[in-house]
Amino acid sequence: MAVLTEPIHVERVAKSRLSGIDFNNLGFGAHISDHMLMVDYKDGQWQEPKIVPYGNLELSPAMLALHYGQSVFEGMKAFKNDQGTITIFRPERHHKRLLKSLDRMCMPAISEELFLQSLSALIEVDAGWVPTTEGASLYLRPFVFASEAKLGVKVAEEYKFIILTSPVGPYFSKPVRVKVEEEFVRAAEGGTGFAKCAGNYGGAFYPTMLAQKQGFDQVLWTDAKDHKYIDESGAMNVMFVLNGKLVTPKLSTSLLDGVTRDSILTLASAMGIEKEERRVSIAEIEEAFKNKTITEAFGVGTAAVVSQIATIHIHGTDYNLPAVDSNSFQLRVKKKLNDIRKGIEPDTHHWNYLVK
Ligand SMILES: *Cc1c(COP(=O)(O)O)cnc(C)c1O
Repeated sequence: MAVLTEPIHVERVAKSRLSGIDFNNLGFGAHISDHMLMVDYKDGQWQEPKIVPYGNLELSPAMLALHYGQSVFEGMKAFKNDQGTITIFRPERHHKRLLKSLDRMCMPAISEELFLQSLSALIEVDAGWVPTTEGASLYLRPFVFASEAKLGVKVAEEYKFIILTSPVGPYFSKPVRVKVEEEFVRAAEGGTGFAKCAGNYGGAFYPTMLAQKQGFDQVLWTDAKDHKYIDESGAMNVMFVLNGKLVTPKLSTSLLDGVTRDSILTLASAMGIEKEERRVSIAEIEEAFKNKTITEAFGVGTAAVVSQIATIHIHGTDYNLPAVDSNSFQLRVKKKLNDIRKGIEPDTHHWNYLVK
């Protein structure tokens, strides 16, 4: 299906669940909106998308995604400003990353047009689910998986592309304690670390669970070869302020190219901070704690925007970051990004995609 000529077919719910939602108490991922968008891939092409009531699917237990893991996803947010205008934050960039994930997993590409039109149409139908409360948004979860039923190991020939949406509240996370992981690996160079594929998460649970038993919130993943260089923190990219400069690990095949990471790097210069994308070794961070040249460390991602790191555990020692105050870069950039997304600050980089 190259071009969407017809409007997307909508089958509406008999009764909306919207009135049962407490918008002042949303949490994250607890509620799924009334409708979902579905598209099937078969006979070598994506078929007509349709919007249907959110509900269970009937699928074969032999479907290939369950056995061989062809399953990828995206996560982004839509916002409603005070005038009632709904925008999606950087969906084109999320689409580019989805294409990379699909390609790595031998799954069929989805055109930008199908992606954007599907998102817009679904959000229009469930426009009432986009929160207006402070700090809240509609979380968008597009995902693609192999639905073909067959037991043999093979690349599937049938897929489903589905979009779910979920109203989410402000994400308050307390400052986290992270442990430098030197035994387990999330992703190796040449592997699937740069793809947002389901298996990366499945593989990360066990080391994370062990770290949590030891009293940490998250692991700080290091490179698979030498465990010397920092990749990411949990399921977020990681940034440091070292000698007054914003420093973040440079992209490689073992880390995810975060849209939040890119947005923060783009905003940095105008906010008066120099930035460096390069390899960051554990030794450098340890040295920086000893010399007191590290002033901030934080995770960055769509859900929380910025998640403050309070403690980094390196080789058996807890190193504590100084307290965050209103001058801290992480708080200033978090506010700036939130204000751009909400339409309070001018959108000079054209990041907000208008839902018609
Ligand atoms: C999604 C994700 C991120 C953050 O990406 P954003 O586009 O900023 O939300 C970082 N690391 C991993 C492993 C992820 O899955």
